Amino acid sequence: MDIPDNATGSTPIHCSKCGAFLGEWGELQDDFYRQARGAEAFDLCNGNIIKK
Ligand SMILES: [Zn+2]
Repeated sequence: MDIPDNATGSTPIHCSKCGAFLGEWGELQDDFYRQARGAEAFDLCNGNIIKK
């Protein structure tokens, strides 16, 4: 994911691999931390959590 330093809850986030729109940062944070507690070990691609 490409997350701007100044991202807010409504900042649109795109996949760093394919450029797909993933959702707003606020929404993604909720999903992301619910599904994967080590943000560095996982990435989001096309709506799926993938292990690096
Ligand atoms: Zn992707």
